[in-house]
Amino acid sequence: MTDTAERKMRFLFALRSRGVTDIRVLTAMERIDRGAFVKGLFADRAYEDMPLPISCGQTISQPSVVALMTQALAVTPRDKVLEIGTGSGYQAAILSQLARRVYTVDRHKRLVREAQDLFIALDLANITAIAADGSFGLPDQAPFDRIIVTAAAEDPPGPLLAQLKIGGIMVLPVGQSDTVQSLIKVTRHETGFDYEELRPVRFVPLVEGLGPE
Ligand code: SAH
Repeated sequence: MTDTAERKMRFLFALRSRGVTDIRVLTAMERIDRGAFVKGLFADRAYEDMPLPISCGQTISQPSVVALMTQALAVTPRDKVLEIGTGSGYQAAILSQLARRVYTVDRHKRLVREAQDLFIALDLANITAIAADGSFGLPDQAPFDRIIVTAAAEDPPGPLLAQLKIGGIMVLPVGQSDTVQSLIKVTRHETGFDYEELRPVRFVPLVEGLGPE
């Protein structure tokens, strides 16, 4: 077996051992090459289960966290999904395999541009990347079946709750500091919201306003 093939096999094995059991999620993780989303110095660590630095001082999340969040989101093939925090574009690419349509928003124009180029190169035609402050959601495309936030806020942002369909699910990290955050699953019902705490996580903060580039 080639070195890369072996590393990819270990990568999938690591996901399974971390509790990723959903076959659709595992298949998406197998299809989308994380190596394409990690550039430069850290490229050869793309198949390790760790977060890695990307442009604009941000990070591509740990693959097992991407997989567990995707699993918790329970995406179906008819869903319109909103992601806040495009970063490298990796999470959006995974979602593109499972959903009908994916909108992904980042406050850094450069990250959005780079991710959009990758989506075109990889022929992922159902993703649209937009530069905006994601704390306001994406009113033009709302409501959404699923919303995933990959940066941590103190509380679930009100506009995102408002843009979730009834029956919809939102997965996001919440916490008051950089060190103590919980992954939360929010389900919208006819009369309100259900909150389920999933696991401790660590994400970069959700920052207000557009970035410098
Ligand atoms: N999902 C990404 C990793 C996200 S890192 C991946 O798969 O690689 C978190 C991202 O959230 C960063 O790129 C950061 O710029 C973005 N972010 C932080 N605050 C934001 C906001 N208010 N609106 C949109 N994006 C935001």
